[in-house]
Amino acid sequence: MDKLVIPKSIKNVSKILSDAGFENFVVGGCVRDIIIGREPKDWDLNTNATPEQIISLFSKTFYENEFGTVGVVNEEEENEALKIVEITPYRIESGYSDFRRPDKVEWGKTLGQDLARRDFTINALAYDVQNERLIDPFDGKKDIEKKMIRTVGKPEERFHEDALRMLRALRFASTLDFVIEHETQEAIEKNAYLLEHISKERIRDEFIKIIMSDSPAIALDLCARLKLLKFISPEFEKGIGVEQNKAHAYTIWEHLLRSLDHSAKKNMPLHVRLSALLHDIAKPHTKKWLNGQWTFYGHEVVGAKVAKNILVDLKFPKEIIDKVVKLVRWHMFFSDTEEISLSAVRRMVKNVTPELIWDLIDVRTADRIGTGRPKETPYRLRKYKSMIEEVMRDPISVKQLKIGGGEIMKLTDAPAGPHIGFILEILLSEVLEDPTLNTNDYLEKKVLELYTLKLEELMGLGREARMKNESEEEKESERVKEKYGVR
Ligand code: ATP
Ligand code: MG
Repeated sequence: MDKLVIPKSIKNVSKILSDAGFENFVVGGCVRDIIIGREPKDWDLNTNATPEQIISLFSKTFYENEFGTVGVVNEEEENEALKIVEITPYRIESGYSDFRRPDKVEWGKTLGQDLARRDFTINALAYDVQNERLIDPFDGKKDIEKKMIRTVGKPEERFHEDALRMLRALRFASTLDFVIEHETQEAIEKNAYLLEHISKERIRDEFIKIIMSDSPAIALDLCARLKLLKFISPEFEKGIGVEQNKAHAYTIWEHLLRSLDHSAKKNMPLHVRLSALLHDIAKPHTKKWLNGQWTFYGHEVVGAKVAKNILVDLKFPKEIIDKVVKLVRWHMFFSDTEEISLSAVRRMVKNVTPELIWDLIDVRTADRIGTGRPKETPYRLRKYKSMIEEVMRDPISVKQLKIGGGEIMKLTDAPAGPHIGFILEILLSEVLEDPTLNTNDYLEKKVLELYTLKLEELMGLGREARMKNESEEEKESERVKEKYGVR
């Protein structure tokens, strides 16, 4: 009854180890995931073989990390999660005098020792592929069924060994939609301060996994309640319980969480989710009572700086930081479509950059939903989008021709003069009608033909073409509006 469905390439790897006389088990997150019925992100095996012995059995391998993990490369595999199978010798850890890593990592002799060092019962299951047998010394399967996160052994002790496990507990609560067992939760609240000893990189990696989960607000809210939040960044705590004006039903922190959750619900990429979470981060810094109400003037400017500090501190890559800083800085754009001009939209696109303009709209939408106010009216949003597309599209112009004024002068061996402009307009009007004519060959031939005309004739044709081209340009603009169903 404990038979699990294991992919063929894992069975193959396991058989190679077994045939060579080594014990081996599928372990950790992937066993948990198959029992839950989720697709594992990666597959891990452990074994009593040494790294050298593992390497000798497979044709293509590489060393993964300091723990002796060997990555076995499976080039034929289509499934991304199975392309590299990680095989790690059994491990025992001891010491942990600095609350983060063992003083000593040794090879273990038994599977039992290796499972006992793992963080949570749901992560401490192993599966014997050859004998189709689940090994579950800590009742992890029962906890999976109860949707419960519980440490292997005493939570206090386990969190003292490695404080990151507390954040991992919340991460699993969020990604798996599990609850944290009572004693484990109490131990987190009591020992949260130990996270001070954990490197920012490790905190960042768990933070990213929380942000990228389906409902990150639950985990972050738990982080706040269990006092872990300030170890991600003390800035987040400043918005907790801070009221805004009547238009805002939620406190700053609640609003940020709701905005983040919306961006997660819409499956937005990391930088958009981070921007949703950070867009009002400096409201507590800028809050002032003015003329009978709370104001937050300049919170987007200060916010861009605060967001940057948070992300730099967490060692996020520069590319992500740059994007978030821009999105936070410009999230307050004025969007009253009745009054906003195309040139204002053009400035906006220039500020946030064309690459990020659609992300800015997504941040704005998350912001509005997170306010609890009715959605941006569909019409208004469509209108705004159509204005963006309008300012972003290349205008119809002679610049799109494969030939330019300079080339025409060379071709006709004539000095600059009004005829060049007329010729270009005529060429453009032909190309607009039939884009396949936009080739050097055709256009050069056509230039020579037109150049035989009298200037007056050329002028007549040229003016006619210009009017046609201008009306094409207007039509193009109409087409954008039509696409969004706006006027
Ligand atoms: P995911 O699906 O997100 O990768 P995972 O459970 O595989 O989740 P990893 O961080 O990849 O999590 O770790 C793999 C396994 O290693 C875990 O399932 C757990 O058994 C063990 N592990 C990882 N980090 C720790 C830790 N800090 N303390 C104890 N055991 C850990
Ligand atoms: Mg994993």
